[in-house]
Amino acid sequence: MYDLIVIGGGAAGMSAGIYAARGNLKTVIYEKTNFGGELAQIIHIANYPGYDGRGDELALKMRQQAEAAGVEFDYGECREVRVSGKVFDLTIDERTVRARSVLIATGNEPRRLEYELDVPVSYCSLCDAPLVKGKNIAVIGGGDSAVQEAIELSHIAKQVTIISRSKLRASPKLQSRALELPNLQIRENNETTKEELEDFEHVFVFIGHLPATKFLPEDVLAADGTVMTGAGVKELSSSLDMLGLDDFARRSDHETLIPGLFAAGDVRFGAVRQVVAAAADGAAAALEIMHYLDATG
Ligand SMILES: Cc1cc2nc3c(=O)[nH]c(=O)nc-3n(C[C@H](O)[C@H](O)[C@H](O)COP(=O)(O)OP(=O)(O)OC[C@H]3O[C@@H](n4cnc5c(N)ncnc54)[C@H](O)[C@@H]3O)c2cc1C
Repeated sequence: MYDLIVIGGGAAGMSAGIYAARGNLKTVIYEKTNFGGELAQIIHIANYPGYDGRGDELALKMRQQAEAAGVEFDYGECREVRVSGKVFDLTIDERTVRARSVLIATGNEPRRLEYELDVPVSYCSLCDAPLVKGKNIAVIGGGDSAVQEAIELSHIAKQVTIISRSKLRASPKLQSRALELPNLQIRENNETTKEELEDFEHVFVFIGHLPATKFLPEDVLAADGTVMTGAGVKELSSSLDMLGLDDFARRSDHETLIPGLFAAGDVRFGAVRQVVAAAADGAAAALEIMHYLDATG
């Protein structure tokens, strides 16, 4: 039985792990793909106080710090969260693991194309850029991420075409940088078909993100799929008294409607979606979890 299971090994989850383990909670973090989450995809992070460098290097430092504090790390996808009294049973791949509290720190997943292509499709340029050396590639999307990633990819690929179904929404500064590149073209207001995309040798997709919350009970989710937490949510709940929440729970900012189930980072409703904010959110959630465990014995 763990005191705390953290689902998701990004900045929020690892920061929560550091605080929880230093607070003497028996803590494990489950991660379904790569520890570091989105942080590990950032080519250069220049807005995290005290650090100016590669995202994957910062992610590794976070993991080492959490391990040194006593956090267990394990790979596995959380598929279901069940609660019975004050105990949580989580399905991680095919296993069941048990804890007194759970932190959802699963962030977002890239929105995927609605159809399969016969050419390779990627959702992370840092991960797959080496595959496109000398190739003719398409980047789908019109926001900051799409244009930023297209600029980075243009240093490796032979030709990059940004395809946006509306006018580009990226910042004017990014757009002018893109326009200066001789091997980068922009097609705006363009609904490209599957067949047209298959003329490229590789397709990168940056068309937004969806919260990674499919495995959670619907009553903890907001309409946009993020996790609702906090006093405001509890005050809105007409069934507050029936749930028997104590005074502490009413004050907790990171707890969901289910006592003992918390959320932090990009997955939380209203998140700022920055690394520094995700790390801070994880820390605050871990402190609330310590109070919760003290209060509930
Ligand atoms: C390309 C890019 C560039 C960015 N640049 C910057 C920047 O310069 N500065 C900045 O501050 N922010 C930047 N961001 C945003 C920043 O990276 C995120 O806000 C932050 O890293 C989110 O951290 P998180 O821990 O909340 O979520 P995530 O980093 O998304 O971590 C969630 C983790 O949970 C895992 N997970 C999901 N579902 C499950 C499950 N069911 N079971 C187990 N594990 C699961 C995921 O695999 C992932 O590792 C950028 C994001 C991207 C994509």
